[in-house]
Amino acid sequence: MPEIKVLFVTSEIAPLIKTGGLADVSGALPAALRNLNIDVRVLVPGYPQVMKQMGPSEVVATFSDLPGFPASRLIFSIMKSGVPLLVLDCPDLYQREGGPYMDPATGHDWADNHLRFGLLSKIASVLGSFESTLSWRPDLVHGNDWQTGLTGVYLSVAAGAVPNIMTIHNLAFQGNFRPKKVGLLHLPPESFHINGIELYGNMSFLKAGLYYAYHITTVSPNYAREIQGEELGFGLQGLLRSRNNDITGILNGIDTGEWDPETDRHLPEHFSVGRMAGKAQNKQALQSRMGLEVNPDVPLLAVVSRLTHQKGLDLLLEIVPRLLELPVQLVILGSGESSMQQTARDLAQEYPGKIAAMIGFDEGLSHQIEAGADMFIMPSRFEPCGLNQFYSQRYGTPPIVHNTGGLADSVVDCNQDTLRDGTASGFVFSGMTTDNLFAAIQRAVELYRDERKWKALRRNCMSKDFTWETSARAYRRVYLKVLGRTE
Ligand code: ADP
Repeated sequence: MPEIKVLFVTSEIAPLIKTGGLADVSGALPAALRNLNIDVRVLVPGYPQVMKQMGPSEVVATFSDLPGFPASRLIFSIMKSGVPLLVLDCPDLYQREGGPYMDPATGHDWADNHLRFGLLSKIASVLGSFESTLSWRPDLVHGNDWQTGLTGVYLSVAAGAVPNIMTIHNLAFQGNFRPKKVGLLHLPPESFHINGIELYGNMSFLKAGLYYAYHITTVSPNYAREIQGEELGFGLQGLLRSRNNDITGILNGIDTGEWDPETDRHLPEHFSVGRMAGKAQNKQALQSRMGLEVNPDVPLLAVVSRLTHQKGLDLLLEIVPRLLELPVQLVILGSGESSMQQTARDLAQEYPGKIAAMIGFDEGLSHQIEAGADMFIMPSRFEPCGLNQFYSQRYGTPPIVHNTGGLADSVVDCNQDTLRDGTASGFVFSGMTTDNLFAAIQRAVELYRDERKWKALRRNCMSKDFTWETSARAYRRVYLKVLGRTE
């Protein structure tokens, strides 16, 4: 008998559909929870990418008369990881080419996102209440980010509703819509209230999620504190402060099967902490693939990221001429704001052999970069958790990070003391200025020149434990608390 049954609701899940870290978490955390005897099943929209890749499947429920929503059905399948999947098939809302949130033709959000993710939330509430026709009934619904935010509202008026928790992966994305959508989504009218789903005159999916959830988690302890302040609270700090006792920060883990330099299928050569020759070969292969001068001695800096204001890469792009004098090489993989994409492309053109930029999303290349680079740069203005700093530590590529959110929780700044006690694992800078970023990179490059110390730093990085197990145990404690059960 499983100890707890959980419906995990998400708008993306690796490897089926991914735009960012939420997909990685959704792909790995449920499997780790299942190892703890928790029966987790994942509810995800039936985008074409999911429908095509989901494997053998069976229709287990149909929903033809939910007020306000087109007909939909639920398809059961099982992920390669063994995690059961409930795919929400609604051709009117999900069967279209493009990303989960954005229309590629216009570059804007899908005009019916309120319905796309309203339905996801609605079905989550159906499955978590007496309305469900499935024999499998969860004890608890675990939603993620704004796309699942209405679940708690619908549950609040459903018969036989189970409790729900909400995980914030990024408070900046809120799913705010005009108030008239409240009626279209058949939400209880009284919920449109400051003590409810209203945020400065709009309806906010995320606020709804945070207001109605029994418990809130976020993806690092530091971010759990930061979002209760003015600077990073994005207008929700008051609500979050009032719920201070119901918020838990749980640092993400990583999928150590997917991200393992000893077995990674994307790498030309494998390596491990005791066998580092392969890393040098990865560097050579990366330099050559990206059109950089093949040179083992020049430090190769790397970025794999969404190119947005949040990620702070504008600072890095600004100091490129100074950096090249150190000297270093720089490889950038990313996509996002068009002006930043263009600057990256322009720099690559201006400094051939020294800077390479690949605009787009490329999973394989992201692994090759983690393996082939010497240092990884993450100057995020804010970062709920961040994943690349874990990957880069595991691949012996010390990260250079801003002192914020999960970056601060997972990277130990390198100095004499931390090198001596074996905890140093990267370079942390405080204060978002180009000079501070430059100074951190300079420190890293200096250490790189000291072969013995650099090896020690890499060894520390690669020896750290980033498995999901510890985080999964923390989620289990939250589930038990919400269910009023003791360990
Ligand atoms: P966020 O979710 O804010 O984008 P995270 O660091 O939590 O940031 O997770 C980002 C994930 O997406 C990582 O797995 C990262 O490697 C991946 N990623 C980001 N941009 C790209 C890209 N252009 N190509 C391949 N993978 C990418």
